[in-house]
Amino acid sequence: MAYDDIPNGFINQPRKKPGFESAGDAIRKSRREALSGRSSVSESLTRDFEREAFRNGWQASAARSQQSASTLSAGFYAQPQSKRRHKNDVFDYVKMPDSISGKDSFEFNYDKLHKIADTEERWSWVEIDRNAIHNNIMAIRRTLDPQTMFMAVVKADGYGHGGVACAKTAINAGAEYIGVATIEEAIALRDAGIDSPILILSEPPIAAIPLLLAYQVMPSVTTVEFAVRYAEEADSIGMEAPYHLKVNTGMNRIGVRYDHVLDFLSQISFHRALDLVGTFTHFATADAPDNMDFNLQRQRFEDVIRMMRGAGIEPGIVHAANSAATLRYPQVQYDMVRVGLAMYGCFPCEQTFGSVNLLPAMSVHARITQVNKVPVGEGVSYGLVHRSNGFGKTCTIPVGYADGLRRGLSNRIGFIKDGRVYPQVGNICMDQCMFEVDDRSRYGKAKSDPKIGDKVTIVGSDGDAFVTIDEMAAILNTIPYELMIGFGSSRLPRVYI
Ligand SMILES: *Cc1c(COP(=O)(O)O)cnc(C)c1O
Repeated sequence: MAYDDIPNGFINQPRKKPGFESAGDAIRKSRREALSGRSSVSESLTRDFEREAFRNGWQASAARSQQSASTLSAGFYAQPQSKRRHKNDVFDYVKMPDSISGKDSFEFNYDKLHKIADTEERWSWVEIDRNAIHNNIMAIRRTLDPQTMFMAVVKADGYGHGGVACAKTAINAGAEYIGVATIEEAIALRDAGIDSPILILSEPPIAAIPLLLAYQVMPSVTTVEFAVRYAEEADSIGMEAPYHLKVNTGMNRIGVRYDHVLDFLSQISFHRALDLVGTFTHFATADAPDNMDFNLQRQRFEDVIRMMRGAGIEPGIVHAANSAATLRYPQVQYDMVRVGLAMYGCFPCEQTFGSVNLLPAMSVHARITQVNKVPVGEGVSYGLVHRSNGFGKTCTIPVGYADGLRRGLSNRIGFIKDGRVYPQVGNICMDQCMFEVDDRSRYGKAKSDPKIGDKVTIVGSDGDAFVTIDEMAAILNTIPYELMIGFGSSRLPRVYI
């Protein structure tokens, strides 16, 4: 059998049985009815409403959305699926009259196919609240000296929140500087029209130098070889080579060691194109309870700055503080702070809880795809490690560990529906997982009756109930950064509100 002949499920299908009505038949029938004016007024009203819902959904996805997916389709899901399917505008195929056979055939309208909202294709998504980011930056800024600049750190696609959207929001909130990890991230920002100063927080390979110059992105410098080459390339086209010097004061990741800084600078200072715009370090323990190591790093850094000035070298913008240091140690604000985590609404450590009013910008949502009444004693999900007590309904949602919902959280978290938290049960699968709704009425509350299409909150709040990324991180013995990026950079579509 030739490769092309391998059936894919749509080739060589058996003819349908007499009397069988396919989805296609239903569409044709309803369109015929609509055209012949036989459909009732209420039906056509519903259809208009659905068109509207669809258009909203499309705009949401096309523009990566201003709108909340949670509201845009509320009425849409109130319709039983079977009823709405053939009325949806998406199901609008192009009729191709076939002059030879005399029968119509149908072509897909690919423009329309691409307009099906991401949140409709699969019932799970990440919501990003830009107002929260704006609020967080303003709240942090209020704790700073008015002269202190704010670098918004949007590396790793804005910690999974979308690099471009977050950078724009941060600039609107007054951020003077943008920090990224890679030249690719920087180029994406430039392509989106962002013209603020951008610093790559490490030294890129020499091969990236033309990109730095072309896109006017500043590198952090840690080696003589890079510095000289960067200067030469810039000089050869009549440009300056602006950079920030990274000093290693004790974290021992990257940077010129604190006691080599003057020596390092003397090795590159002959080059006229080099422009030292800033000098910075990074703390290894700004979020640790004990501050002895922190103080040692701080001392070394301040010595470096003093020695530079003593040698007649202007260090430029002096900066050191990440979120934890910004919130905990006002004495290390210097000229600029570099804030990532806190601007996304997470506190970096216990010592910072409540120090400012931060709102989590990311929430994760899904809709129920199936509801099962599992008999007592039967198991749920791989390994059947969860056993039903027979009092509940098990609801399935299309979110799994490939969407950032880490498998290690299995049976240890809760999801929110209608303002109440229900336990996640069974092992989390790659693409799906289950939770259980007790369907006995309790504590005088009405019993819950989960339905396909009902909205569920995996991270975020609904009514008085909330689930935070911090809690999940604590369960996994990891840091919120990892979970945020896990959800935000997974295949889950992002919806901005
Ligand atoms: C990521 C990063 C930051 C931001 O850290 P947060 O803890 O997210 O505030 C600051 N500085 C450097 C060098 C970084 O790499």
